[in-house]
Amino acid sequence: MIKFVRPEECKAKLVSSRELAPTIWSYIFEVTEGNFKFEAGQFTNVRLEDPDNPGEIIQRAYSFASAPDKNKFELCIELIENGKGSRYFDALEVGEEIDFKTPFGFCNLDPENRRNLLMVATGTGIAPMKSLLEDLASKEDIRTIDLFFGVRHEENLFYQKELEELKSKLKGLNVRLCLSQPLTEDWHGETGRVTHNLENYDFNESVEVFICGGEAMIKEVRGMVLDAGVDRKQIHVEIFDV
Ligand SMILES: Cc1cc2nc3c(=O)[nH]c(=O)nc-3n(C[C@H](O)[C@H](O)[C@H](O)COP(=O)(O)OP(=O)(O)OC[C@H]3O[C@@H](n4cnc5c(N)ncnc54)[C@H](O)[C@@H]3O)c2cc1C
Repeated sequence: MIKFVRPEECKAKLVSSRELAPTIWSYIFEVTEGNFKFEAGQFTNVRLEDPDNPGEIIQRAYSFASAPDKNKFELCIELIENGKGSRYFDALEVGEEIDFKTPFGFCNLDPENRRNLLMVATGTGIAPMKSLLEDLASKEDIRTIDLFFGVRHEENLFYQKELEELKSKLKGLNVRLCLSQPLTEDWHGETGRVTHNLENYDFNESVEVFICGGEAMIKEVRGMVLDAGVDRKQIHVEIFDV
């Protein structure tokens, strides 16, 4: 059973940041205050000052990109031009603190659930999948997990080393990288959008499904999964572009 945990106010300081791909950044935080808890796949609401209205506090949701830990976590954020949250994170310096509330969301996996998994992510939608996979790796999980990860070009791919490491720990993990517009002929992964690559997927009704990224992709994949006979209770989605 997934337990509901009341979200708590916390603070954390930025320990490091690095660019993963153009406009995509990883931020590592250490919790400094609050009753910090989350389950793999969940998200946090970061409170920040609106850069266009000084003094006004707004919130932005970000999925955890790391497995649950006592006091450390990673966020993986796409910095959107002129985005309020994007500008806030772009300006954040190592040692500075963020205010956030956590945990939120239902993109988590019941610990008693033994179903095989299908994960579909585009762009930073990989964040909750990485969190779930790292958590499963720490438990030496052996189930079959098919991950479809879609981005546009080769240069937009990221977390490749991390996914290779996860593959070595999770024997049942199959990673299908999908480039919607590969720029080189050297590309040996899947070509086309994730939805195109799912057309020949052998859906099994008993699979547990996680879909994360843009709304249009999620709608399409969810439709495909439902048409394949998967119960809606087995489908978890997190829409990032709302
Ligand atoms: C549950 C949840 C979890 C999320 N987790 C993550 C995460 O892990 N990593 C992450 O990068 N984002 C995540 N998001 C999206 C994030 O909360 C912000 O919406 C996004 O980063 C844009 O915020 P902003 O303040 O920079 O831009 P805003 O100031 O809100 O918007 C600026 C402009 O960009 C457009 N816009 C908003 N979102 C997007 C987008 N995704 N792509 C293109 N244009 C957009 C807006 O329509 C607007 O025109 C999540 C959203 C939700 C609801």
